[in-house]
Amino acid sequence: MSTINIAIDGPAGAGKSTIAKKVSAEMGYIYVDTGALYRTIALYITENNISDEDIEKSLENAKVSLKFIDGVQRVYLGDRDVSDLIRTPEISMSASRTSAIPAVRKHLFSLQQKIANENNVIMDGRDIGTIVLPNADVKIFLTASAEERANRRYKELSEKPNCPPYQEILDDIIKRDYQDMNRATAPLKQAEDAVLVDSTNLTLEQAVEKIIEIVREKI
Ligand code: C5P
Repeated sequence: MSTINIAIDGPAGAGKSTIAKKVSAEMGYIYVDTGALYRTIALYITENNISDEDIEKSLENAKVSLKFIDGVQRVYLGDRDVSDLIRTPEISMSASRTSAIPAVRKHLFSLQQKIANENNVIMDGRDIGTIVLPNADVKIFLTASAEERANRRYKELSEKPNCPPYQEILDDIIKRDYQDMNRATAPLKQAEDAVLVDSTNLTLEQAVEKIIEIVREKI
């Protein structure tokens, strides 16, 4: 029996993960956050001080895997759960840089396809609809203006200690968008058959509703 695959791509901070989590709960699918895989490779490279020239050959030692515990994804480097360690602004920027390396993408490719072959998934990332799951049943490209994405991130972080200034968050988002969209391998772009959802003027609930509507229409 073939599985159902939903791909959600879009730039950093568009709300992909929050929305995909809600939609997956509603549909009973598993939510796969592929950014966590690239973040884990970035952590591995940082922790081991691996230079750019050595990245490719050192990847065979970077054993990245995912587990789903009560539907919630945890990411492992070897047998260490690094799910929380990878959520820093430094790892975000470093993941955006190292994910442009073709060998890094190749290293993570089959893991993503295997999960989607074996499960009904909502998978989010940058190249899911274009490269990883070109035959996905539903493809969504979720975006919002850079200012609105920075605003949301700022609101989220301002409840925690050490919140960076708004301008720094916005600068990081713009830089990451540029890197992700302009790399030679698997750049961030809307698949031709993806439905565009711009969430700039939508509340979270409205965006979730809209995406569930699109999914139900197609499945
Ligand atoms: O989605 P998230 O912001 O956690 O992703 C971190 C970085 O990983 C992105 O900026 C992007 O460079 C990279 N990434 C990617 N392809 C994916 C998912 C993430 O290149 N499918």
